[in-house]
Amino acid sequence: MQVIIIGGGIAGLSQALSLHQIGVSCRVYDAVPALSPLGYGINLQPNAIRELSALGLGEKLAAAGILTKELAFYNKHGQLIWTEPRGRAAGYRWPQISISRGELHKILLTAIHERLGRDAVVTGHRLTGFEQRGDAVIARFNDPSGRPVGAAAGDILIGADGIHSAVRQHFYQGEKAVFDGYLHYRGIVEAAPYLTGASMAVVGHRSHRAIIYPVMQRPGGKVMINWLAYTRIPPGAPPLEAWDTVADKQACVEQYKGWTYPWLDVHGLFAATTDADVLQLPNVDRDPIPRWSFGRVTLIGDAAHPMQPVGAQAGSQAVVDGRVLAASLMANRDPAEALMRYQNERIAAMNDMIIRNRNLGLESILQAAEERAPDGFTHIHDVLSQEELEHTAISFKKAAGFDVETVNSRESFVDAAMRTNIHRRMFLKLVASASVSPWLPRAAHAQSFPNRFVRLIVPFPPGGGGDALARPLAQRLSEVWGQQIIVENRGGAGGNVGAYQAANAPPDGYTLLLGAAYLSINPALYPASGYNVFTDLAPISLLTVIPNIMMVSNSSPAHSVREFIDYARANQGSVTFASTGIGASPHLSGELFKRMAGIEMTHVPYRGAGPAMNDLLPGRVSVMFSNLPGVMPQVQSKTVRGLGITSAKRIAAAPDIPTIGETVPGYEVATWWGMFAPVRTPADVIEKIRADTVAALGHESVKSRYEALGAPPSPSTPAELAALLRADAEKWAPIVKDAGIKPE
Ligand SMILES: Cc1cc2nc3c(=O)[nH]c(=O)nc-3n(C[C@H](O)[C@H](O)[C@H](O)COP(=O)(O)OP(=O)(O)OC[C@H]3O[C@@H](n4cnc5c(N)ncnc54)[C@H](O)[C@@H]3O)c2cc1C
Repeated sequence: MQVIIIGGGIAGLSQALSLHQIGVSCRVYDAVPALSPLGYGINLQPNAIRELSALGLGEKLAAAGILTKELAFYNKHGQLIWTEPRGRAAGYRWPQISISRGELHKILLTAIHERLGRDAVVTGHRLTGFEQRGDAVIARFNDPSGRPVGAAAGDILIGADGIHSAVRQHFYQGEKAVFDGYLHYRGIVEAAPYLTGASMAVVGHRSHRAIIYPVMQRPGGKVMINWLAYTRIPPGAPPLEAWDTVADKQACVEQYKGWTYPWLDVHGLFAATTDADVLQLPNVDRDPIPRWSFGRVTLIGDAAHPMQPVGAQAGSQAVVDGRVLAASLMANRDPAEALMRYQNERIAAMNDMIIRNRNLGLESILQAAEERAPDGFTHIHDVLSQEELEHTAISFKKAAGFDVETVNSRESFVDAAMRTNIHRRMFLKLVASASVSPWLPRAAHAQSFPNRFVRLIVPFPPGGGGDALARPLAQRLSEVWGQQIIVENRGGAGGNVGAYQAANAPPDGYTLLLGAAYLSINPALYPASGYNVFTDLAPISLLTVIPNIMMVSNSSPAHSVREFIDYARANQGSVTFASTGIGASPHLSGELFKRMAGIEMTHVPYRGAGPAMNDLLPGRVSVMFSNLPGVMPQVQSKTVRGLGITSAKRIAAAPDIPTIGETVPGYEVATWWGMFAPVRTPADVIEKIRADTVAALGHESVKSRYEALGAPPSPSTPAELAALLRADAEKWAPIVKDAGIKPE
């Protein structure tokens, strides 16, 4: 099963970790060009820490944040209204952690990179739409400039795309965020600890309120203090929606003049915050909705229940959503039923929470104290009885699902599902095995093939040569088959991550692999890759045989291969060469060049041509070797300077660029690309894919594109491709050994 998660915030990332824990494959897509640690303070209640600890993150979170000991409410005169212990101090088995949202995000993202691999999170992909077709959901994306950037297919789509969710908009068109007329300022500042040193203080009343808590220890005994301050904004002023709008700090600070108390100088704290560290946001939420789950699509986190920042709930509830959803997937064979079960378990409580937060939740006692005693009180119980205070505190925690009894007495949602529903091993077998899982494709036959979308795995990041060849072919095959061919970039380990997945996919023709020279190099480089190139993959057809290219930045002093060799000799020790990854054909092209030209260069491996090109353009590396198709546009537009082609003859697409062999006699490297499938794919299905691929290669739309990329179509039989694979493997094995090339 493959799950698409839209949004790499707290909900999306923690969801991905939970799915990984139960053995379900997923990928996170986020609109931003890069996920960076953003935000100020966020609170994770013990119910969320309980779940994050079950994911093995408890200690990291505790080390990065502050274990909250106390929640204290004060009126605007600084008089104590109510205080209660929090986290471990209140008897929970798990702490409450106040943490910088950026740190929390970083911990989740690092865990994903370590456990699921770097390509489990794809940035620069804004969801623009999706459709459910039979058993699949197909999502479409735009890049940050608004251009379509492809599609992804999965068995389930989870909308974790925050308060302005595009997934939610799909089902609730025209629905608007609700703005309550308040603006809140957020700031973060280093200061001395106050009260217990780990206290969350809430001061004031509805329209004039400050929430203050430390989120991080600093050297010298200081702490980073996160604060939030409310103010009503003039009617008609437009709400601002971004998390990065720098505020008019003075306007905020002015309003808190006089808020200087023996236990904390609130005004002084705000005033001491660097201007640029004060952000302003509108106080927005959305009305509760009756459904989150629609067939194979559902909502989690702020996309499902965007609520006002009261009672420190949003982050915690986002984590819990993901755990309940993972547990529901374990308990239900049918994905749509699982999503409905998740919804039914969560929606009523979260809709209730939205309304409670509009009424200030726990903080309502501040408003009650203000209304009953605006000038302060002699004793709080003259204004609010102990029973009233206790009732408000307990009922909020119970409604939010984090009262001590509930948290301490229940298992982690996922553990409970593992124990009570399906034995874990049985479940994993179910998701891994095509024959027993109702979620996975059934056997295909050539007559009916394909009757749903087909996945073409390109085992490199987007933007490289593989992509450039795969996309026009996928487009043509989609037209011929009347079914979408989804190009999936699965980079990592020199192509092995994607190849491993293809080798282990159901052998039904619905998963194909773009193979290339990496398949013949990797047996020498990764002897324990988990699959066997020769026995686990079925060759279908060669697509093209192409040279690599040697390029320098336009700012390089070298205008030819000869000048580059001279430059390298004059600058020994400082010459670097970029390749698309360790052991890939461009890397070997560079190694061969080094040896044959008699120069020294330090290899700098990148994860694909796109990232390598980013460093070549400003001249951060001296030279780059790459497959030609991915970089042809830059070469032809002279964004970079092509110095030499690795093949024996010049190529039609770039006739002005000499071969490297013209300067270094005998130098020659050519690489190839081909189509593969898992080995037990039925022969008639392989033959249909082969025949249609060969026809597509001859079709003008593909042929002209390939030729423009310097990769003329070159179809073959499966036997010819198998022979080429073997011959190449025999050629590269000794070079990998001699050069001492080791995988990353
Ligand atoms: C940059 C940022 C800073 C924040 N800072 C704080 C803070 O300091 N304190 C606090 O309490 N809360 C903060 N929040 C909100 C808080 O993270 C959430 O309220 C809560 O954690 C629930 O998380 P979520 O994952 O549901 O939503 P979010 O954390 O808002 O994450 C939603 C994600 O979806 C992505 N996204 C949105 N639309 C699309 C689309 N169409 N396609 C693909 N991706 C999309 C966004 O880029 C974002 O990464 C912040 C949120 C963001 C995005």
